[in-house]
Amino acid sequence: MSKYWSEAIQSLTPYVPGEQPKGSNIIKLNTNENPFPPSPMVLEAIHQFDTDRLRLYPDPDASALKLSLAEHFNVKANQVFVGNGSDEVLAHTFMAFFRQPQPLLMPDISYSFYDVYCNLYGIEAKHIPLQDNFCIVLDDYAQANGGIIFANPNAPTGRALTLEKIEALLQRNTETVVVVDEAYVDFGAQTAINLVDKYPNLLVIQTLSKSRSLAGMRVGFAIGSAELIEGLERVKNSFNSYPLDMLAQATAIAAIKDNDYFVETTQQIITMREWTNQQLQSLGFKIIPSKTNFVFASHRYIEAAELMGFLRTNQILVRHFSRPGINNHLRITIGTEAEMQAMIDCLKRHPDIISL
Ligand SMILES: *Cc1c(COP(=O)(O)O)cnc(C)c1O
Repeated sequence: MSKYWSEAIQSLTPYVPGEQPKGSNIIKLNTNENPFPPSPMVLEAIHQFDTDRLRLYPDPDASALKLSLAEHFNVKANQVFVGNGSDEVLAHTFMAFFRQPQPLLMPDISYSFYDVYCNLYGIEAKHIPLQDNFCIVLDDYAQANGGIIFANPNAPTGRALTLEKIEALLQRNTETVVVVDEAYVDFGAQTAINLVDKYPNLLVIQTLSKSRSLAGMRVGFAIGSAELIEGLERVKNSFNSYPLDMLAQATAIAAIKDNDYFVETTQQIITMREWTNQQLQSLGFKIIPSKTNFVFASHRYIEAAELMGFLRTNQILVRHFSRPGINNHLRITIGTEAEMQAMIDCLKRHPDIISL
């Protein structure tokens, strides 16, 4: 607390991201980063970059990047919004669409940044419980609302909804904005982008941080009707004209262009995820079926906090949430084959784990 702070910020509860350790011999499976380097085309774009241009401001509209995203997803350029990571796109989304008289509906277990933005913008949130098996039940969202947001696949559970269920929601919820956060969609779920032309209130948000190995560049985007995109542009241009720097724009274009590399690396992560699932199950873990680049698992006998501490002592970081309902689960990012093998080998050394 400080007497210099505005009253509104005294009550904020900021988001706490997963730890970024300084040491180098740590196996980092705690923030869902991609274990593969960015595409060789991204490295090429960096080498080709003319540093003299850095004295100039970047394109405030990131037109070339919007065009490449529009072509990739088969939409018009005015249906694309880009931001400094999808976290910023989400922030502008809450500001633009969710400050309504009715509450915003969201799953009670989901990406915790949603509550942080509600807090920041004074938006009332109504949390809809997941089923016991951690499934989102969209039928429960048929009620008065000032907007709906959920992640598909959901975080940190990893579970995905089918497109049919999402479309059924859109058919009955036409008066407020529905946001689908698809940060992990490329690891095995179906995107809702193909529905944006049919439903002008649908906004799909994706990121280059996870499936395109560019977390350090901070590039996220939204695809929706021109009407929704214009709303986001109004907020963005009232906040920061240049959210994406030149290098971010150039490397993002290169990453989108190299579709072969994207398909190859995401497929390898999916294969490694299924291997990890089998290994964890043989060590006595219960697994939630995941369509993401992480697994969400709980051990039958050993507390999650204990296992997280044990892995940590052995230089392996995984994520544990203290929130009731999920505090006996670990969220383990899928890393390289060697990293996953090291994680499994480490668990096998835990005194209470018996290989089944
Ligand atoms: C990682 C993540 C984001 C944020 O991604 P950035 O583009 O890196 O800001 C958004 N939503 C969910 C559900 C995520 O897991």
